[in-house]
Amino acid sequence: MVAPARCTDGMGEFDLIDRYFKRPARHAALGVGDDCALLQPKAGTQMAISSDMLVSGRHFFADVDPRTLGHKALAVNLSDLAACGAQPLAFTLALSLPHVDEPWLAAFAEGLFALADVHGCELIGGDTTAGPLNICITVFGEVPVVAGSSQALLRSGARPGDDIYVSGTLGDARLALDALLGKIELPPELLATSRARLETPTPRIALGLALRGIASAAIDVSDGLLGDLGHILENSGVGATVHADIATELIAAYSGNKRATGQFCIQLSTEQWRALALAGGDDYELLFTAPPTLRDTVAQAGRASQTPVTRIGQINTEPGLHLMDRQGKPLDNTCASFDHFA
Ligand code: ADP
Ligand code: MG
Repeated sequence: MVAPARCTDGMGEFDLIDRYFKRPARHAALGVGDDCALLQPKAGTQMAISSDMLVSGRHFFADVDPRTLGHKALAVNLSDLAACGAQPLAFTLALSLPHVDEPWLAAFAEGLFALADVHGCELIGGDTTAGPLNICITVFGEVPVVAGSSQALLRSGARPGDDIYVSGTLGDARLALDALLGKIELPPELLATSRARLETPTPRIALGLALRGIASAAIDVSDGLLGDLGHILENSGVGATVHADIATELIAAYSGNKRATGQFCIQLSTEQWRALALAGGDDYELLFTAPPTLRDTVAQAGRASQTPVTRIGQINTEPGLHLMDRQGKPLDNTCASFDHFA
């Protein structure tokens, strides 16, 4: 490339890195400042590595609060480590910025480091360039190897008869997105709580760690419950039956409203509520499977990690994804038929 790698406006690239992103290395053998960072894997461990890119206008609104953007950029990456049962260690940050906006950078860094510190995950390097707003983070985590066998949770381990579980809540992030896009109207309090789910998701690291040796397969829900379950089914060579109405009860806006007023202040059809839960996306919850003999153990892992966990279905021998309603009646079974918001 011949273009100068500067994001000028007075402040140079290296001043910017020093001021906003350089912190002393804690666990890394070498952090920001050289051509490479150095990480020393502990004996008896494997490194879990994952990258996620957030593109302005595609993954977030250009005018989103930079503090929440810093949080989310790291959160979606940590969520992948959680899904593998990995302990976060470090991350790199590749940033493309249209111009240097110091208050924006300060707020972005604050949100980023606040979440990083919660998980003891340190920034060890990256790249900074001028260009359209784009954030790419790579996370590095650690998984033990016990008796030659990796403890990482994978998509491929689901077995017929296993229970299917999901953590936390579903659909609220998509509800907020639809409201922000002007597709639906939400009362202010409901918009605020749903928007928090969209903009500041909680990576389920503690649950992922607690599920090592318990869950047979796991994935994080980023593209929607059924779509992501599909990856487990395909990788494991199995099918599944999901209780659509149990999943729908996991929408905080759905059950909260029902409890508070006995009726909904948002007018959505049953199908639309189900679509939010089953195909909403941006939930960053853990979807996992475990044998029925481990129900108490799974419940204990949920309590120990202070993460709600709900059983929503079962793995079948026959390939295919089936949905049933509260009465056990089969429902239309394609993800597409549930994507009323597409
Ligand atoms: P190089 O040109 O050798 O690739 P750079 O000049 O791009 O290195 O970066 C200098 C140092 O600053 C490197 O250690 C790099 O990892 C780090 N760095 C660059 N951008 C960022 C960033 N956004 N966050 C953290 N570290 C960064
Ligand atoms: Mg270099």
